[in-house]
Amino acid sequence: MPELPELEVVREVLIRRLTGRTIEQVTISPKGGPIVVRDLTGLGFAEGLTGARLKAVSRRGKFLIFDLDRAEGTGLRLAVNPKLSGRFQLSQPGEKKAGPVHLTFHFAAPDEELRYVDAKTMGQVYLTDHLELVPTIAEMGPDALEISLEDFRQRLRGFRGEIKGILIRAPFVAGIGNAYADEILWQAKLHPYRKRTSLSTEEVDRLYLAMRSTLLEAINQVRVEMGDHIRLKPRDFFAVHMRGGGACPRCGTAISTVSANQRVTNFCLTCQPGGLIRGMASPSHLRD
Ligand SMILES: [Zn+2]
Repeated sequence: MPELPELEVVREVLIRRLTGRTIEQVTISPKGGPIVVRDLTGLGFAEGLTGARLKAVSRRGKFLIFDLDRAEGTGLRLAVNPKLSGRFQLSQPGEKKAGPVHLTFHFAAPDEELRYVDAKTMGQVYLTDHLELVPTIAEMGPDALEISLEDFRQRLRGFRGEIKGILIRAPFVAGIGNAYADEILWQAKLHPYRKRTSLSTEEVDRLYLAMRSTLLEAINQVRVEMGDHIRLKPRDFFAVHMRGGGACPRCGTAISTVSANQRVTNFCLTCQPGGLIRGMASPSHLRD
């Protein structure tokens, strides 16, 4: 799943490569297209976008938002939520597809295509004139890079349960998924299954700082490794996520893996003590 750092770099590339340019043509694949595309304007998806000029690209949580100008003088928004497996490919016409392409925006002079690729057809691409109409956007909390420490502390009090589960909930903060939650919690030295109510003020502040530093550092890494190849998802710099059995980069302990609720969680039991695993208190939790 692309998360905040990848989408942030994709946004930078799309701004540099495509803003100011006009969508000459829109191709919706007959198979996957109707599943991922949603027209909330009544204009028709392809009809609304053909001839529109890309004005800006922004990001809110795990949504990329394209601002478009139409010749008629009306503005439109394209909100893309790539979910589990959606990604973009910026390519020359005829270039090899990075996977099943459901949607293609054609740009001219030079000829270029922005393709939406999604192996699981789970992502959604909405065309709208009112962003609030896009499902889940209205309920979304502040972006993980925009929220202040004070707001973070305040909002966290409104959520119960395990801290990892809260961190990936968009109504709390938007932009963090399963992978970066593991990285952030490792950076903060907090066990992913610690209950929110068990966190001290100092630990909450540490989590906030780790969230920012992990995401900002990841953006720098992704920028270097991705370049303009926006279909990629560079993650070889991860400390713990998908590194189960490997050595913790901080202390050398073998990284633990827990699979629950169709999610893999990786963490270091030495650096991230406490918490409950499968209903059993770990020894360090009992000591606490
Ligand atoms: Zn460790």
